[in-house]
Amino acid sequence: MATAGDAGFLAYSALQNLDIATLNRHCKVDGIPITYPQHAKVKLLFMSQATQQAKMIQMCKTMNISTDGCTTAGSEKEGMSPKWSPHIDTLNKEQLEDYVTLTPDVLAKLKNWSKSIKEVPDVNDFSIKMYLANANVISEEMFRTYKLSKPYEMRKHVHSMFYNKLPDHPSFVALQAQSNSEQSASADENTEVLFVILDSQSGEPVGGYCTCAIGRSQACVHMGAALFSFAGFIASGTPELPSDPAFSEVSGTGTGTDGENHFALR
Ligand SMILES: [Zn+2]
Repeated sequence: MATAGDAGFLAYSALQNLDIATLNRHCKVDGIPITYPQHAKVKLLFMSQATQQAKMIQMCKTMNISTDGCTTAGSEKEGMSPKWSPHIDTLNKEQLEDYVTLTPDVLAKLKNWSKSIKEVPDVNDFSIKMYLANANVISEEMFRTYKLSKPYEMRKHVHSMFYNKLPDHPSFVALQAQSNSEQSASADENTEVLFVILDSQSGEPVGGYCTCAIGRSQACVHMGAALFSFAGFIASGTPELPSDPAFSEVSGTGTGTDGENHFALR
């Protein structure tokens, strides 16, 4: 029986059923930004618990303690690592080991997300096209006419973008963004949170994660949209990513109307 009291781990369904205030309290304790849409907070909190469980099991194993007491839910932990792209073949063993530690919940909790893109590698449309075509997000026929594709069209609905140099992971940098699924939709459930890990030298996308239904399979339209938007800002020479819309405007929850920038405050 998982309650907030024992070991602090909650089942996915229990997290889904929390009221907003309680969910936000859990997020604050865990370091997940409360400005995320509700469904994204649930997913990332759940992953964060799973990561902590995995670490506990590892610790128990290292200390030669039975892992029975360390954890309960095992089956719900799949799909945590960011997915691969063909670029992964170019990484050495050390880089691969580093890469798999960059799970979405770990990325969500990083404090040094920034609007500054003065020192970003060259992220360009060609490498994004390669990445999306490989993941079947755009078809081969769309390779030439990618400006007609859904991810390119949807770049206008990307907001709350941040860049992270990942100082502790020299081979990689990361992009975080939120993307509304539909043009008119501003409701919480239509806003996805996504992360893309890129090669710190070449700027090529390596892998990513999105809170949408297919966001665990390397790439989706939201990641594509965020990448195209990001590449557009880099190419335009702007030193900063655009500021975020007010929290309530995006989430539609009516809370947090102060437009608090959760990242800048920490
Ligand atoms: Zn997505």
